[in-house]
Amino acid sequence: MWRAALSHRLRGGAAAASPWGRPGPPRPRSSLASCSASSSCWSCGLALPSASSPPRFCPSCRALQPPEPCADLFRLMGCKRTFQVDQGRLQQRFRSLQRALHPDYFSQRPQTEQDFSKQHSSLVNKAYRTLLNPLSRGLYLLELNGIELVKGTDTEADPEFLLEIMEINEKLSDANNDAKIEEMENFIAAKQEALTKGVRRAFDQDDLQEAKKLLAKMKYFANLEEKLKRKKIPF
Ligand code: ZN
Repeated sequence: MWRAALSHRLRGGAAAASPWGRPGPPRPRSSLASCSASSSCWSCGLALPSASSPPRFCPSCRALQPPEPCADLFRLMGCKRTFQVDQGRLQQRFRSLQRALHPDYFSQRPQTEQDFSKQHSSLVNKAYRTLLNPLSRGLYLLELNGIELVKGTDTEADPEFLLEIMEINEKLSDANNDAKIEEMENFIAAKQEALTKGVRRAFDQDDLQEAKKLLAKMKYFANLEEKLKRKKIPF
């Protein structure tokens, strides 16, 4: 009986809010032209070698160059463009880039370079966060392949799955002690682990549509994880 009620609420849409919330304005598509890095040093005008890996310094005047407009986060972090990443290597690269780009090194440099160092730093932070988390890493890999999740709709998810999420949501609102919350945390962590394995398999087999389907599910569970976290914060 309550299942039918849930189904009804699902179709109504209000209770089964999409994990993406309201659809935002469309992001501007960057053209290839705006994605190419400058080929000469902003400071001394020397032609820069194109193959050097980011961040680039001018070989002549040593000036830090601006970040590439459409930097490949995998390349930036020295990782192969695959779903499976070497976390130790990722962490090492993150630390060495953070050291090399630390604002202290640029405090005596021109303002332009100080600004570039800040831009590089935030790009490195973004790259590290994106590649460390399986969900954002998978979504980024899809994006590189020209595939984006449909935002603001539930059309991609099957009704059975949405019903499962609704049931977990109900359980979550009923979970009123630490033991129950921990039980739910473990349950969702196990779900995410299984989905992550599935995503890895899908990418290994070049099945991007399957990867997309599983990542959409991971996004729902990530939302539940957020809700659980908020529940744990004492008021
Ligand atoms: Zn230069």
